[in-house]
Amino acid sequence: MDIGLHVFPTSKYRLIHAGLLESGLIRPSDLVEPTPATWDELALVHTSEYLARVRDGSVTADELAQLELPWSPEIVEGFRAMVGGTVKAARMACGFDESGIRPSKLAIHVGGGLHHAFPNHGEGFCLFNDVAVAVRALQAHGIERIAIVDLDVHHGNGTAFIFEADPRVFTFSMHQQHNYPVWKPRGSLDIGLPDGTRDQTYLGHLEQALPAVMAGDPECVFYLAGADPYEDDQLGGLQLTKQGLRERDRMVIDTVRGAGLPLVITLAGGYARNVEDTVAIHVATVEEATHWGLEASG
Ligand SMILES: [Zn+2]
Repeated sequence: MDIGLHVFPTSKYRLIHAGLLESGLIRPSDLVEPTPATWDELALVHTSEYLARVRDGSVTADELAQLELPWSPEIVEGFRAMVGGTVKAARMACGFDESGIRPSKLAIHVGGGLHHAFPNHGEGFCLFNDVAVAVRALQAHGIERIAIVDLDVHHGNGTAFIFEADPRVFTFSMHQQHNYPVWKPRGSLDIGLPDGTRDQTYLGHLEQALPAVMAGDPECVFYLAGADPYEDDQLGGLQLTKQGLRERDRMVIDTVRGAGLPLVITLAGGYARNVEDTVAIHVATVEEATHWGLEASG
């Protein structure tokens, strides 16, 4: 998917893919090509009116302004593939899949984390909410209690809204308070950090929060490993270093692995001035995950 010159670095996915293979972190055989999410799967979260507008291109100019993306059939297909990747990763991690893939307990979608999409509209580069669709797909298969750890620099507003009334889903977002989105629907646990927060403070909050996330006895955990809390991110105002972000990843991964639970990782945002920094942060997340034993999809 190429959307032209845009702060959203679509090239990062290609570069991460290449970087993972070049580094030897993964072999081509570790990679699984996802199938696009079906419209029925998308309807587990999104309203039929919204999906109809997206499908036939009748989204309004206001909606596109809020989405911050143009509309084209290719973009719709790209986002369906994004959702399909997260659904596939969730099925792989949790051990059920129509194609008979063995349970891996850990699966990474090299993409996804589209946490700003609501049932009836998209915003902030997020046409559909991939994690929400994957959660609903798991719940339809009897895996009901889910925790979502959202460490993108932006609050997971769409995700919080979608699961506000579902006590089975614990939504945790730690983000920069004074940043998009202005309206932050309440999640199960929200930590809004001041501008310029650095590694030590950030990791201290995370260490305190993770036991609360696990206290709901989830059956599966989703982790949105946004690269945008990075100190040189164009859309973020926190000051985390690459090492701090790596320690963040390790803390989440170790907590979930220590509890013996399946973990689904998506990448989410990352808009560093140098795309190589964003790529390196995402690759480091995968590297930390390989200490577990890896299945990647994307
Ligand atoms: Zn973000």
